[in-house]
Amino acid sequence: MTEKKRIKNLSLMERIYIPEIAKGMWLTLKTMFKPSVTLQYPEVKFEPTGSYRGRPVLVKDQNEVERCVACGLCARVCPALAIEVQASETELEKERYPQKFEINMLRCIFCGLCEEVCPEEAIVMSKDYELVFSNRDDAIFGKDKLLVPVENLKERLDFLRKFKG
Ligand code: SF4
Ligand code: SF4
Repeated sequence: MTEKKRIKNLSLMERIYIPEIAKGMWLTLKTMFKPSVTLQYPEVKFEPTGSYRGRPVLVKDQNEVERCVACGLCARVCPALAIEVQASETELEKERYPQKFEINMLRCIFCGLCEEVCPEEAIVMSKDYELVFSNRDDAIFGKDKLLVPVENLKERLDFLRKFKG
């Protein structure tokens, strides 16, 4: 009954659709002459800003040591159970370090919760969005793939400081 009423209220021009079709075609024509926003990936790469949440990585400080103190908070908060941390003692000032730190990239949903809870700014979301694996084992990233020099993460760390206040 409601459907019938709606049709009755249409004007003649609306019922023949032609003006609406012309409007649509005019919009298409205008858009055709605007600069393209489509990137020809992979020839042209997308360059994200600091607010982008790519794969999580571990921060390696200038002294070549990971910031992580193996507190395990990130593993506990991860909704996908993607993180595994094994702590061990160290002679360094921080006392504990992650002897093993792994993230299963097949599980990770890039939510950023690990980054939010980390008390040391030791795990952050990077700009890396290119993840390709040929088998399941390759998707488990250890410290060799996770550790990234702090200089390469400056933009994200600056963004976090601004965002967290
Ligand atoms: S980004 Fe989210 S899903 Fe991925 S490791 Fe961190 S907490 Fe887990
Ligand atoms: S990355 Fe951060 S939250 Fe995770 S274990 Fe290390 S210090 Fe703790």
